[in-house]
Amino acid sequence: MTEKKNIKIIIIGGGLVGSLCASFMGKRGHDVAVYEKRSDIRTAKLSPGRSINLALSHRGRRALRSVGLENEILKTSIPMKGRLLHDLTGKTTSIPYDPVTNEVKFKFYGDSPTKLCIYSVGRNFLNQTLLRAAEKYPNVKLYFNQKLVSSNFNQGTVTLLNTNTCETYEEVAELIIGADGAFSSLRRLMQQTPLFDFSQKYIQHGYVELSIPPERGHLITPNHLHIWPRGEFMMIALPNQDNSWTLTLFMPFDKFENLKTEEGIRKFFWETFPDSIELIEENELVRVFTRLNNPSTLVSVKCKPYHVGSKYLIIGDAAHAMVPFYGQGMNAGFEDCFLLDDLLGKLDEDIQKTVNQFSESRVESAQAICDLAMYNYEEMKSLVTKLTYRIRRALDNALFKQFPDKWVPLYNSVSFSHMDYLQCLENRKWQDSVINKLLLLLITMLVWIAGFVSLKLWRAI
Ligand SMILES: Cc1cc2nc3c(=O)[nH]c(=O)nc-3n(C[C@H](O)[C@H](O)[C@H](O)COP(=O)(O)OP(=O)(O)OC[C@H]3O[C@@H](n4cnc5c(N)ncnc54)[C@H](O)[C@@H]3O)c2cc1C
Repeated sequence: MTEKKNIKIIIIGGGLVGSLCASFMGKRGHDVAVYEKRSDIRTAKLSPGRSINLALSHRGRRALRSVGLENEILKTSIPMKGRLLHDLTGKTTSIPYDPVTNEVKFKFYGDSPTKLCIYSVGRNFLNQTLLRAAEKYPNVKLYFNQKLVSSNFNQGTVTLLNTNTCETYEEVAELIIGADGAFSSLRRLMQQTPLFDFSQKYIQHGYVELSIPPERGHLITPNHLHIWPRGEFMMIALPNQDNSWTLTLFMPFDKFENLKTEEGIRKFFWETFPDSIELIEENELVRVFTRLNNPSTLVSVKCKPYHVGSKYLIIGDAAHAMVPFYGQGMNAGFEDCFLLDDLLGKLDEDIQKTVNQFSESRVESAQAICDLAMYNYEEMKSLVTKLTYRIRRALDNALFKQFPDKWVPLYNSVSFSHMDYLQCLENRKWQDSVINKLLLLLITMLVWIAGFVSLKLWRAI
């Protein structure tokens, strides 16, 4: 019998991905130290700025299930079984995620039949639960107010700053994982090493969060992700456990300029989202926008590889921050943890091989979801309202029903399966080409039939 390896692991960042990763590594029996620059969110005052709730889908659920947390999280999450579109008159249209069976089993899901729905989960609740779960492993230690400041890739060390005492100290480990978010310090340090590619893109749209208080939560149809698509911009709403809803307005920065005055705010909402005014309340809208300094920004990050040397690795937003329109940022980060754990097992805890293979197999896949997330903004803010989109969806659903293992619609493959993101993208390409060929065939046949009928009529005259 081979002796079980006990590896010393450092995780930088105790956000959603870092804290889940700590449970995965703790479960493997390794000695894990998590260094988080903020204070413990379980005891600290709530920090504003990030989204309040998130959409959890299959990839995230699978990772949570692996560390025994899925049920605990789902119990306090709210299922959203489809999109509910609000038009300018307030009329709503439901687009279920699964109009076909509402309970399917297809090979890419991997386990038991699942209801195709996504779940709205509170960010703070989730992070707190993940930290609590990690801390239950006696071999996992969490250190707060500790910030990564530098790293010596040759010596395999990291330097941390204790933000309470302002003292710096060095730590060493066999595996150093950066799960320190979109503006990752570890990634910034990795950028200075040879052959490390990096690019980031800010979109010219920002976002502002609003809310529907619990006492008015019943006024909006439950169990949906609500969308007010307005072509160039959109507003969405996700439910919270306390019956309140969190709305997010995504819009070009220059359009936010019209929301500087009370008159401008009222005019904008009456013209573009009239049915939301009763839900949010006009005075609350005025209060939020007149106090607003700047809308939050959205960035997409691509880099390659995800590792440096034989022990430094980045995961989650640190490796692949994306715009939030596919609701996949956290899900992809959770999937990173699942895949990393899987590789460690398959490669007999060989760190060097694991970080190499993780990088090799994950970079393109994660870049594909970054691209898909950009595309989905188009779909959500404008395409969903178009007839061509609805025809395509109906066609996709009909084909999915007939061939559930072959014709998996793009949204289903991304949100309800663990198909490689790159394959999701490639699938969509061949599906598009099949549909285009079918359309061409149909048009040719119609032209032939029209020609044939005209000829018959002409001969009959
Ligand atoms: C508006 C919005 C809506 C979103 N909606 C969804 C959604 O519906 N579904 C979904 O799947 N995803 C969604 N996302 C994406 C999701 O929020 C991120 O993908 C997720 O938070 C990434 O987790 P992370 O742990 O990698 O990074 P983070 O959550 O950013 O955590 C990083 C942690 O590292 C710490 N840290 C940073 N620097 C250092 C340092 N130098 N030293 C020590 N610690 C450090 C930070 O304090 C933080 O705690 C959304 C994002 C936004 C902006």
